[in-house]
Amino acid sequence: VRAVTRTISESEWRAEGAKRFGEDTSKWRFVCPVCRHVATPADWRAVKAPDNAIAFSCVGRWMPNAAEAFRKIHKGPCNYAGGGLFRLNPVVVESGDVRHEMFEFAEAVR
Ligand SMILES: [Zn+2]
Repeated sequence: VRAVTRTISESEWRAEGAKRFGEDTSKWRFVCPVCRHVATPADWRAVKAPDNAIAFSCVGRWMPNAAEAFRKIHKGPCNYAGGGLFRLNPVVVESGDVRHEMFEFAEAVR
């Protein structure tokens, strides 16, 4: 199973985010690939998640009573970790030689 659906450059990714949500990155919206919970970078920061967890691991990892990823989830957020055994982040953002596996943006481009 390949989770990755597309690979884009960092500049393309930044342009797309700005087009969807505006220049303020704290308001960009990302969807967890496991529980479909939608969160913004401000939400990750509010629960004191590290910056490298933003749009990479579900915000639920830093919240009490988050749903167990890969169990029957009725409502997110969950405890999915982007760097764990199951790597399901769908968007690869290439920044020089570095590849970041990211959550997808929450809404489709108009
Ligand atoms: Zn989740």
